[in-house]
Amino acid sequence: MHDILGHDVIIAGGGLAGLRAAVGLAGKCDVAVVSRVHPVRSHSVAAQGGINAPLGNHPEGKDDSAERHAFDTVKGSDYLADQPAVELMCQEAAPVVYELEHWGVPFSRFPNGTIAQRPFGAGSFPRTCFAADRTGHVILHTLFEQATRRGVRIYEDCQILRLVSSEGRICGLAVFHLPSGKVVGISARATLLATGGYGRIYERSTNALINTGGGIALAYRAGAPIEDLEFVQFHPTSLYGTNILITEGARGEGGYLINRMGERFMAHYAPDSMELAPRDIVARAIQTEINEGRGFADGYVLLDLRHLGADRIKNRLPGIREICMDFAGLDPVEAAIPIQPAQHYSMGGLQVDQDCRSPVPGLYAAGECACVSVHGANRLGGNSLLETIVFGKVAASTLSADLERLPPPDEGPLREAVLELEKELEALQRPRSDGIPYATIRDSLRETMTEKVGIFRNRDGLEEAVYLIEAMKDRLKKVALPGTSSSRRFNQGLLNAYELGLMLDLAEIIAKGALRREESRGSHFRTDYPKRDDSRWLAHSIATWTPEGPSFSSWPVAITKYPPKERTY
Ligand SMILES: Cc1cc2nc3c(=O)[nH]c(=O)nc-3n(C[C@H](O)[C@H](O)[C@H](O)COP(=O)(O)OP(=O)(O)OC[C@H]3O[C@@H](n4cnc5c(N)ncnc54)[C@H](O)[C@@H]3O)c2cc1C
Repeated sequence: MHDILGHDVIIAGGGLAGLRAAVGLAGKCDVAVVSRVHPVRSHSVAAQGGINAPLGNHPEGKDDSAERHAFDTVKGSDYLADQPAVELMCQEAAPVVYELEHWGVPFSRFPNGTIAQRPFGAGSFPRTCFAADRTGHVILHTLFEQATRRGVRIYEDCQILRLVSSEGRICGLAVFHLPSGKVVGISARATLLATGGYGRIYERSTNALINTGGGIALAYRAGAPIEDLEFVQFHPTSLYGTNILITEGARGEGGYLINRMGERFMAHYAPDSMELAPRDIVARAIQTEINEGRGFADGYVLLDLRHLGADRIKNRLPGIREICMDFAGLDPVEAAIPIQPAQHYSMGGLQVDQDCRSPVPGLYAAGECACVSVHGANRLGGNSLLETIVFGKVAASTLSADLERLPPPDEGPLREAVLELEKELEALQRPRSDGIPYATIRDSLRETMTEKVGIFRNRDGLEEAVYLIEAMKDRLKKVALPGTSSSRRFNQGLLNAYELGLMLDLAEIIAKGALRREESRGSHFRTDYPKRDDSRWLAHSIATWTPEGPSFSSWPVAITKYPPKERTY
């Protein structure tokens, strides 16, 4: 690799959002994708259950519409989502799903040949389109084929270390090229961030190991406002012990949740929707059963699929069956699955408008790292894949329109950043006698987040978390690498140590944002403020970087058709 590369648009992230944007830009400008792993290893590949679109193919879904989808999404968000953005996403849902179908996505089918749909949580109709339980896998591979077919340049094994600014606008990225161990600059007139979520700042997470949230933290450090980061989704059903996701599709197909007494306990929490209530409600219900002693020994309840029968499990949930057999030694055809909630998704992210523009000139964002905001305080299952595709496409249109007025960047600041980072990495790699292993700090961060900034929160726990995170930031000054390797090539330990500071930044925003928000809304549940308080908190939280830590302000929620009401399920 050369030291400085240049493109019109650089897309940071080769998951669904990044690749969908790249496909839209190919042929219109010189576009490249940079990714820390090969694009088809992006976390999107793990998405199981499906993508929402009101196609009306299911016999019980004939009356479904973009409006009903939008209403379910807004209600599910506990009225924090921006309604014009939700309406846009839901109107675009059917066209983008058919576009994916025509590009080659092998969706599961009903006997009449139409795309199959299954019920998902908080949807008033069965509207989740799927490819068995490997939906993300097939969409990601299809988009990768479409991107390479159109000649999109892809830099894989390149980890972003910095978003570089020049005269108040982003002029490119400084990346670590793993195979050579060199820092390289990539200049661009526009940068699209599509770097996904940060699940791995939690101990229990369904996310891939690469999901450390670096992109969001780098944008924060570059001056971008970060929105609603205190809203962290905990998925109700992860496999006990490993926290591998057991898709909501398993409950969509008819799976039951049962406690130690064999009771379908959701009847006490959401009598109408039962297991298909929104995720925040089901996750809290499971955790309450465990906390109050109605779970099993070490903290789990059971997901029972046995009544669905072997054929349905093998056809509709083959991946789940495989996961259970490989990682828990049980076959869900014959035994119920031990599950517990785990961190799963980030509703918050880099603040962008519904055209994917951030307030920082030259910087755009789409997918899980962005906050448009279509999920508000709680995302509905199946809406994230939809968001990546719709807003990946929107980002491509916005970028093609904006490109004309974005001047070619000055490479000077990029060259300076490359030199600075080379020195920073060199210092980090230097052995030190008083060093604290990065894994020690990382593990206590993850533990702190799961214990004190989890499903149930309160002032004491959050204050303690803030105190511990600030102490970890202090300890980070002495961070040391494992082993003594002086090589830079594929030095994952070096990168892990580098990104620990970014993880701490995000943890600080989440914990302080959760402490500031004195109410309960969607996934953010304060036991000391158990009610939603629209009079004070019907607003987005915005965090901006200062040398002393995040500074918070509020931003109005865009409400059009659906005035806030109490949620019942
Ligand atoms: C197990 C699981 C199952 C899910 N199932 C569903 C589902 O069925 N339906 C649904 O709607 N949603 C689902 N979700 C959520 C959904 O999969 C994700 O929100 C979505 O795929 C995110 O896509 P993305 O393109 O924004 O990011 P990702 O797919 O995470 O891609 C991020 C990209 O950024 C790159 N990157 C990140 N950081 C850096 C860096 N510092 N330097 C360089 N590159 C970087 C990565 O290499 C990657 O290419 C699921 C989530 C999980 C965890």
